[in-house]
Amino acid sequence: MSVVVTSNISQLEEQLTPQIGGNTIGFVPTMGALHEGHLSLVREAQKENAIVVVSIFVNPTQFNDPKDLERYPRTLEKDVNLLDTLGGEIIVFAPAVEDIYPEGTEAEPMDVGAVAKVMEGKHRPGHFEGVMQVVRRLFEIVKPGRAYFGEKDFQQLAVIQEMVKRYHLGVEIVRCPIYREPDGLAMSSRNTLLSPEERAIAPKIYQALEKSQSLSREKSVAEIIQWVTQEIEQEEALKVEYFEIVDRDTLEAISSWDEVEHVQGCITVFDGIIRLIDNIPYR
Ligand code: AMP
Repeated sequence: MSVVVTSNISQLEEQLTPQIGGNTIGFVPTMGALHEGHLSLVREAQKENAIVVVSIFVNPTQFNDPKDLERYPRTLEKDVNLLDTLGGEIIVFAPAVEDIYPEGTEAEPMDVGAVAKVMEGKHRPGHFEGVMQVVRRLFEIVKPGRAYFGEKDFQQLAVIQEMVKRYHLGVEIVRCPIYREPDGLAMSSRNTLLSPEERAIAPKIYQALEKSQSLSREKSVAEIIQWVTQEIEQEEALKVEYFEIVDRDTLEAISSWDEVEHVQGCITVFDGIIRLIDNIPYR
């Protein structure tokens, strides 16, 4: 089998040491329950690195809702089989909580400024602190040259890039595009938790975002925010938690299209069970 599973740090080091030489390690951090979106990141890593490590770790410190942590899907065997279909050597690092946090989960807070405070930062207190804590720790363990993150979690990418810059972590961050279901819904591990009825209406989010891209030529920023919100909330079960139109780099909300060069719309919709996140470029 070309996929090797390691469950603790010393096993991982044993796997990596003979291979490293002058090779760079491409690293894809995940929480498992893998889908095509994750695989697209792994494929990218395989193209650019001799060694690929995929971590599968449901990080407790980034969950602000204990119920969300409890029901988060865990499917290690299936994940390994899926990775095996890609071919090539892949090292799966699937540690226990004690391996990642041997001294407990308390951590020195890291400050990356406004990018971590807006949008998800406001709605999920402590979430990005947990994300930064685990990604920094995983970088220490895996020592990658490059790490791959999906634009599906648009704000997470901005937070990680700022963390790498401010704390001189020396890892190249590679952005990978959002991978979608044929009906437009952004792939997510949590989608498996949707009932058939919820799954049927979830594509409404991307449909509204996509339509708003062309409408943005004739409507103002405020009008687009209102239009997208109304369009999605026509489905009674969907509630827009926030929809912000922001500068792609600083994530600061803008009020007119020509204020900045790159404009992104970022949305989170609550469907009564899970939060569905998505985003779209406007300029
Ligand atoms: P997760 O397992 O949800 O923590 O995601 C692990 C990585 O996969 C993150 O960098 C995500 O942004 C990325 N990812 C998850 N879903 C998608 C998707 N649909 N398209 C592209 N990347 C994704």
